[in-house]
Amino acid sequence: KANRLFHPENSIIQVGHKAIGGEEIALIAGPCSVENQEQVLSIAKQVKRAGGGFLRGGAFKPRTSPYSFQGMGEEGLELLKKARESTGLPIVSELMSPRWIEKFIEDVDIIQIGARNMQNFDLLKEVGRTRKPVLLKRGLAATLEEFLMSAEYILAEGNPNVILCERGIRTFEGYTRSTLDLSAVPILKKMSHLPVIVDPSHATGLWWLVEPMAKAAIAAGADGLIIEVHNDPANAKCDGQQSIKPERLTPLIDSLRAIAKID
Ligand code: PEP
Ligand code: MN
Repeated sequence: KANRLFHPENSIIQVGHKAIGGEEIALIAGPCSVENQEQVLSIAKQVKRAGGGFLRGGAFKPRTSPYSFQGMGEEGLELLKKARESTGLPIVSELMSPRWIEKFIEDVDIIQIGARNMQNFDLLKEVGRTRKPVLLKRGLAATLEEFLMSAEYILAEGNPNVILCERGIRTFEGYTRSTLDLSAVPILKKMSHLPVIVDPSHATGLWWLVEPMAKAAIAAGADGLIIEVHNDPANAKCDGQQSIKPERLTPLIDSLRAIAKID
C-alpha cells in the first residue's frame, strides 16, 4: 500500500485545514519536551509568528536513561492543547504506548511514532486502526525497506494518513549525533507516494547544523521539516544542544522561502 507502483500520485495528508505532501512545505517546530505552560506557550507564539505551521512537543519522552526527565505525561498534553487554543497551530506529540491511544486520538492532531518504536508492531497496528495522521520516524538503524514496511503496518490496518520522517541513522561518525541520510528523501519519494519530512535536529544533534541541513532537505525534495526550538537551550530538560532559539526561526524560514513554498 505504501508502494508508488500501485498509487502513482503523491498522497496528501490532511490535518485540519492544513495539508502535508502538497505544494507547500510543512514546518513543524517546538520544544523537544513540554516543560511548563510558560515555556510551551511562548515557544508556540514564536513558532506562529515566524510562519511555522505546526507545534511539536513531547509529553511522553523515550529517554535512554530511566533517570532522565521522562516528560510531563498527560499534563504535558493539556499544556499543548492550551498552546493550540491560543495560536491555532495543530499539535504533534509522540505516543509511546498503546495504553494512551484513546487520549492521543482525542488530544493531538498528529501522532508521532518515534525512532525507537518504529518496529513496535503492536503500536503501529494500534495507530493503523485510527484515521489520525501518523508521523512515523525512521529507526536509528533501519533500512529504507524496513522503514517502509513499518509504514505498511499502519496502512494495512486501514489508516492511509502516514507521514515518513528521516531523522538520521547510526554510523561510525561521531561528530554529529546521527548521520542525516539525505538521499533517503528522493529514494522514499521514488518508492512511495507518502509525504517525506526531515528532522535536522535529531539527525545532527547540533543547533548550528539545523539551518544548513533544513535547506538541504528542502532542496532534496522533502515535503516538510520538524525542528526543535527552545527559549533557553542551555537549560532545556531535553535536547538543548540541538535546539535553535525561537528568534532563529524567522531567518531560517525566510531562507527556505527562496527554494520552496511554505505553508
Ligand atoms: C523527538 O522527536 O523528540 C524524538 C525523540 O525523536 P526520535 O524518535 O527521532 O529520536
Ligand atoms: Mn528531542
